[in-house]
Amino acid sequence: MKIAVIGAGAAGLAALRHCVSGAYDDQVVCYEKTDQIGGTWVYREETGSDRYGLQIHTSMYKSLRTNLPKEVMGYPDYPIPQRPESYLSRTEILDFLNAYCDHFALRSHIRLLHHVELVEPPAGDRKWRVKVKDLQRDATVVESFDAVMVCNGHYFEPRTPKVSGQDIFAGEQLHSHDYRVPEVFNGKTVVVLGAGPSGMDLALEISGNANRVILSHHLTETIHTVFPENVVQKSDVVGLTEHEAIFADDSREQVDVVFYCTGYKYSFPFLAESCGVQVDSNMVTPLWKHLVSIENPTLALVGLPFYVCAFSMFDLQVRFVLRHWHGERRFPARADMLRSEAEEAAKRAERGLQKRHFHMMGPEQGDYYDDLANIAGITPLLPVLTKLHNESSMRFLDDLVHYRQDRYKILDDYNFVQL
Ligand SMILES: Cc1cc2nc3c(=O)[nH]c(=O)nc-3n(C[C@H](O)[C@H](O)[C@H](O)COP(=O)(O)OP(=O)(O)OC[C@H]3O[C@@H](n4cnc5c(N)ncnc54)[C@H](O)[C@@H]3O)c2cc1C
Repeated sequence: MKIAVIGAGAAGLAALRHCVSGAYDDQVVCYEKTDQIGGTWVYREETGSDRYGLQIHTSMYKSLRTNLPKEVMGYPDYPIPQRPESYLSRTEILDFLNAYCDHFALRSHIRLLHHVELVEPPAGDRKWRVKVKDLQRDATVVESFDAVMVCNGHYFEPRTPKVSGQDIFAGEQLHSHDYRVPEVFNGKTVVVLGAGPSGMDLALEISGNANRVILSHHLTETIHTVFPENVVQKSDVVGLTEHEAIFADDSREQVDVVFYCTGYKYSFPFLAESCGVQVDSNMVTPLWKHLVSIENPTLALVGLPFYVCAFSMFDLQVRFVLRHWHGERRFPARADMLRSEAEEAAKRAERGLQKRHFHMMGPEQGDYYDDLANIAGITPLLPVLTKLHNESSMRFLDDLVHYRQDRYKILDDYNFVQL
């Protein structure tokens, strides 16, 4: 098969690694719009647009350390090498991805500075058309493929909620996608919107520079973490005036900066409408197993689920897809795939989850991994990964200030210890 991989982040590299493994006689080209591999782990000072006028992809900030222990962040056949600490810096993860790329000799298949502009589904000749711009040469070509793996990430298109008064607020408004260093908040009063992983982490980080930080959220559970004294928690921001934030409890605070840590939108700007993939309130649909386009099963969207052991899951998803594409497993009938998706959506809705939580895994990740492995008859992910992921995530909520000092050791397929 001739396969196109879009993006050379952690997911695209896993896709390439299995396409070139020798198990199948695939020809593969990976297009990457930036000048290096690693995706969101590549730190760039600049925000906005790059020299080619394309949106800066990375959301990485300078001081970032992982929010998961390295023991759950490697690939199944290429773990992160031993070292004392569990929580690594962004550069250590980027180095690891480069080492993975070299270990499996992937570089020759990657075309850097190639921006995929349009992907169109097969017509008469059963080939996908991929329109790519070679950014350095400023030349556009259209190439044909039998199948396409979309690995473009999902932390690059900011989700900014509409808040009344946004247009009259005289201070600064910034999304975490464009945050790099805390010095921009020196001496300021900042209202942080959202208490997800970034909101919590960044409220803590900027508290060293800002005069006062107001962490605004609608979590019903109390956050046990003890924040520094200049961080207070408040209800949702329901409006802005020229200089104030108005909260759901009717209180008001003078603020200099509104800092949106409100997450990201799934976005596939290069998929033609005829590909049949839609994003509905951040639910990507219609997909089989959060992965395979039901309208065109030779299109796979790798990496959509979140709160997962990301790199291992990418590897599993890619192996799942390749087994099907090479006829070792057959896709169910279209109607059955649609039914499976609808059933999962209904179950999640019953549990009170919104559409935008459709791809959220967390405690359910183990079932998802097992399901993929069973269906495709492929080596499953080790249960210890799920266990450690879920337990370390609780530590994040309980002790944000210190959890990165925790150290773990995996003992066997099922057990780990905290050192
Ligand atoms: C701030 C931050 C912190 C994180 N911390 C952790 C953590 O501690 N642990 C963890 O496991 N996960 C973490 N994540 C999640 C992280 O996104 C995943 O771990 C993983 O790196 C995602 O890989 P990806 O390949 O799916 O996407 P990305 O890394 O986003 O890579 C996508 C690639 O596709 C390229 N691309 C996009 N569009 C095109 C196009 N049209 N043409 C060509 N190329 C294109 C991009 O340039 C990019 O290189 C974090 C994410 C963020 C944003």
